[in-house]
Amino acid sequence: MKNIRNFCIIAHIDHGKSTLADRLLEVTKTVSERDMKAQVLDSMDLEQERGITIKSHAIQMDYFQDDQKYVLNLIDTPGHVDFSYEVSRSIAACEGALLIVDATQGIQAQTISNLYLAIEHDLEIIPIMNKMDLPNAMPEVVEDQIIDLIGCKHEDIIRASGKTGEGVDEILERIVEVVPSPVGDPEAPLQALIFDSVFNSFRGVIAYFKIVNGTINQGDLVKFVNTQKEYDADEIGVLRLGMEKRKILSTGDVGYIISGIKAAKEVKVGDTITHKAKPCEKAISGFEEVKPMVFAGVYPIDAEDYEDLRAAMEKLQLNDASLTFEPESSAALGFGFRCGFLGMLHMEIIQERLDREFDMNVITTVPNVSYKIHTTDGEEVTVYNPSGLPASTTIEDIEEPYIRSQIITKSDFIGQVMTLCLDKRGTLVKQDYLTTERTELTFDLPLGEIVFDFYDRLKSISKGYASFDYHMIGYKPAKLVRLDILLNGEMVDALSSLIHFDNAYPMGRRMCEKLKELIPRQQFDIAIQAAIGAKIIARETIKAVRKDVTAKCYGGDISRKRKLLEKQKKGKKRMKQVGNVEVPQKAFLAVLKLD
Ligand code: GDP
Ligand code: MG
Repeated sequence: MKNIRNFCIIAHIDHGKSTLADRLLEVTKTVSERDMKAQVLDSMDLEQERGITIKSHAIQMDYFQDDQKYVLNLIDTPGHVDFSYEVSRSIAACEGALLIVDATQGIQAQTISNLYLAIEHDLEIIPIMNKMDLPNAMPEVVEDQIIDLIGCKHEDIIRASGKTGEGVDEILERIVEVVPSPVGDPEAPLQALIFDSVFNSFRGVIAYFKIVNGTINQGDLVKFVNTQKEYDADEIGVLRLGMEKRKILSTGDVGYIISGIKAAKEVKVGDTITHKAKPCEKAISGFEEVKPMVFAGVYPIDAEDYEDLRAAMEKLQLNDASLTFEPESSAALGFGFRCGFLGMLHMEIIQERLDREFDMNVITTVPNVSYKIHTTDGEEVTVYNPSGLPASTTIEDIEEPYIRSQIITKSDFIGQVMTLCLDKRGTLVKQDYLTTERTELTFDLPLGEIVFDFYDRLKSISKGYASFDYHMIGYKPAKLVRLDILLNGEMVDALSSLIHFDNAYPMGRRMCEKLKELIPRQQFDIAIQAAIGAKIIARETIKAVRKDVTAKCYGGDISRKRKLLEKQKKGKKRMKQVGNVEVPQKAFLAVLKLD
């Protein structure tokens, strides 16, 4: 135990976490050069393509110093706000953290929010300035930022480069020197913190844990405290490049357990593993049930694919416990599912996996958050879909979820960023100058405004230089109304959205204009209307096309005409017939693309 060091890496995306982790694995010879695929830690295809760490992993290294062997467990953390609960559990499993800051970029929003988590858990912080090899590195400026942030000394900051390997030996030495070895009692009843799990189609769910107290033997009968489920520890072991079996693991160790669990949702990150026979008194604190925050309808383009879509969703849920779905029907789109996601990135990932892994051609509707409705007869209902809103006469008030966000931007853009946040109904909580050139803004914002077009606008305003991170702070009352869209007089439920009353009129106008752009002209005029209740607030018309492609077939033989129609149909991928109007997928997301 005294030679174990458990640590994680805190970094803003692209500051070099994966690259530096790879150098650590190389230097400790955990990975031979031959096995060294670029970035071992990001193993999922999607992760590699997007250059982000979606799921956290752990890896063990041996490190020798002064004739002593040390076991270093690097616990990787996901780099996106959608997965912040997993980040917090990974951090809770560590005693130290490497704080990596890109020497050309300086401190960013995610650096700060993850650092706060680490400080909350009393982790020893090792500050590192990465990418020192780049000519535009600004070590003095960034060093001052780091000192301001964590109150360390100049000489504490390690100058490193994941590219050249500069500083890597020093990082390893420092880990051994300053990260405390785990504390805990090997004789006490077993208490192991589950900080992550992965699904393996052959072995079932593999849970990763850190032992806080006690020991576990292969074959033990264990219990997961929060779910109350019992399992045999069929296999336990440590995570090297792959899994290595062990007979016994003890306090301070980081390892995995396989116990024939079939569905990801059975294993909850943050849960505590104990022994059935001699259970611990209390679960490890900090357990939370992760709840989806963002919801959207997912519908098959072809109604016949409904059952296939259900099968695909079930498979996805086997290895992604945070995905939820339930059947839903829409007058416009037919039968589909209302899905719950952790956030916008999670939603994109699921859409992409449906397409890639299951070849499912789906229409997704505008994402929304969950709303708490208090009805006039004193009940509270939660609504996950704007079209599920009760009649306005029965609504006492509506509450919507709020976030507290950190935005770090060049001071030149403060004015525009403020305007954007205020436009999104934000309130400024705090403004801190990090340097003369960079400012940190803290804004409280409705989450429902973030799922619209917040990121894109923030990025374009700041020319890509603003960073953004947030956490939930709870529900607050809001004056929301449902904005409906009608095509040729028919309401399209899938296009309804909940909008703040003050924005409803301009929003309705912009929606109509955007839909006019997105819906192709057809053989007849199409009226697009926006309405609040029975009141029409905006209108546009798409004029009919003159030329009829089937016209030249008139008088020709019927099979030629049918072939032509068939061909047209194929070309119409991702179009949905709504009433008599063909509506492309893009139109269902129109509200996201309003400028
Ligand atoms: P992560 O998102 O924090 O995991 O960042 P990555 O490790 O994926 O690195 C992001 C990008 O920066 C990649 O293109 C890396 O090749 C590059 N990079 C990482 N570390 C260094 C470094 O020390 N020097 C230079 N020049 N580039 C680096
Ligand atoms: Mg990475």
